[in-house]
Amino acid sequence: MEKIRVKIKRQENANSLPYWQEFEVDYEKDMNVIILLMKIREKMVDINGNTISPIMWEASCLEQVCGSCTMVINGIPRQACATLVDNLSKPITIEPLSKFPVIRDLVVDRRKMFEALKKVRAWIDIEGTHDMGAGPKYSQDLQRIRYALSRCMTCGACLEACPQYNSFTNFVGPFAIAQAHLFNLHPTGSLYKKERIEFLAGKEGIANCSNAQLCVQVCPKEIPLTEAIAEVNFEITKYLINLALGIK
Ligand code: SF4
Repeated sequence: MEKIRVKIKRQENANSLPYWQEFEVDYEKDMNVIILLMKIREKMVDINGNTISPIMWEASCLEQVCGSCTMVINGIPRQACATLVDNLSKPITIEPLSKFPVIRDLVVDRRKMFEALKKVRAWIDIEGTHDMGAGPKYSQDLQRIRYALSRCMTCGACLEACPQYNSFTNFVGPFAIAQAHLFNLHPTGSLYKKERIEFLAGKEGIANCSNAQLCVQVCPKEIPLTEAIAEVNFEITKYLINLALGIK
């Protein structure tokens, strides 16, 4: 039977050192990386026949909607559920996302992303208005832009690819800028546009972007990240000019 060679970067816990383990897995047509990992977990032995501890990873929806199974596969951040083994060069390497603390093996702590969403106020304050009827209408063109931005699943792939998202910068990252733009474009969400722009004009904001454009290349949801960054940049420029001119 055809075998597939797989190398996995493992780590027992947040404080231990990472190490590589190698495996051979029976080939099966059309399997994704989640099935590949499950096959390893079924046998629980490495390539030398040594018994291993169970490999941990996260997965939930299995249809590229939740983002929890994002890992670095053959050097590219992507979702294990949507990555077919047939499309990968061999041997296959699997690593956890490097921009987040590892909890164990392929499971990382993505809390930083949710903190970033809080910083850009990525929500709409809309408590108790349901009885007031429908809100303001907006154009289909705007709907299309907002729908594209709303598809973000907080997977972290754009942060993994972004050279400016690292331990030396406090950059909130491309996804957070795109989400700020999404809520700035909403009629009610725009009430807090100034706060979002003020934050993104600061140290953790847009000035960290070096226009590498790698984020947009890896985003599995094809979110127009660089367009969103350019739009927010324009808003920041207007804000700073008005500030200099004393216009509120
Ligand atoms: S913008 Fe794309 S790559 Fe970044 S977190 Fe959202 S879905 Fe993932």
